[in-house]
Amino acid sequence: MYRLVCVHCGAIYSPDQIIYTCNRCGHLLTVEYDMDGIDVSRDEWNRRPLSVWRYRELLPVRGEPVSLQEGGTPLYHLKKIGKELGLSELYAKHEGMNPTGSFKDRGMTVGVSMACELGMKSVACASTGNTSASLAAYAAKAGVPCVVLLPAGKVALGKVAQALMHGARVISIRGNFDRALEMVHELCISHGLYLLNSVNPYRLEGQKTIGFEAIDQLGGEVPDRIVLPVGNAGNISAVYKGLRELEALGFIDRLPMMTGIQAAGSQPV
Ligand SMILES: *Cc1c(COP(=O)(O)O)cnc(C)c1O
Ligand SMILES: [Zn+2]
Repeated sequence: MYRLVCVHCGAIYSPDQIIYTCNRCGHLLTVEYDMDGIDVSRDEWNRRPLSVWRYRELLPVRGEPVSLQEGGTPLYHLKKIGKELGLSELYAKHEGMNPTGSFKDRGMTVGVSMACELGMKSVACASTGNTSASLAAYAAKAGVPCVVLLPAGKVALGKVAQALMHGARVISIRGNFDRALEMVHELCISHGLYLLNSVNPYRLEGQKTIGFEAIDQLGGEVPDRIVLPVGNAGNISAVYKGLRELEALGFIDRLPMMTGIQAAGSQPV
């Protein structure tokens, strides 16, 4: 059992609603579970394969998910760099090992599964890279049409190629990425496509499993610090949200320090 809650004003929405931002104040929505209703043990989780779906009790999808076997990525012990830095316990989680080559697959398996559960007949996003490649692959798996909007001339060619190969309809628009984002949002609302940019509250639910897996791979130990790349900070907030849920379930007893790294040429935060 869960509901959608506005992160700003606390307004509550039913999960059957097709809604991306708060009707009252326009802020983002987050998925809030009834923690007392969650009945699972860590042992039970540990018996399942390491993947996004190991943690299905803390995910919004109820039926059979649209999955390409995402997650379960390796956690490497970085002994050489760790030695240089004086950190004997330095690890890297290789998210490039996901089906389309990025951590976006964790969000999209949940987002596209929800699109199907909500009865949506097509999906869309604005993206210059990993998001479109991932959405296109999951839409193909689900058998629903996918529309990708992108700013003309400002894209990662390899990633657009991936979206095209998976049969997405790729449309370039005049204007920058923010304009593409605005247009896709309008298009989704006016034409009933399901929006899968990071405003979508369900994508973050999948992305939080990076933190769950890392802790399981460390034998249940919480790292002192988790360092993540930051774009609009969806992923890092998802990981933190997930860890707070583990804490609420009593599966961990402390939280790591979270550190976000943003590129100098792209620093929205
Ligand atoms: C999407 C993405 C990011 C940014 O993630 P946010 O959730 O926007 O913070 C960083 N690195 C890679 C490789 C990505 O695909
Ligand atoms: Zn609100």
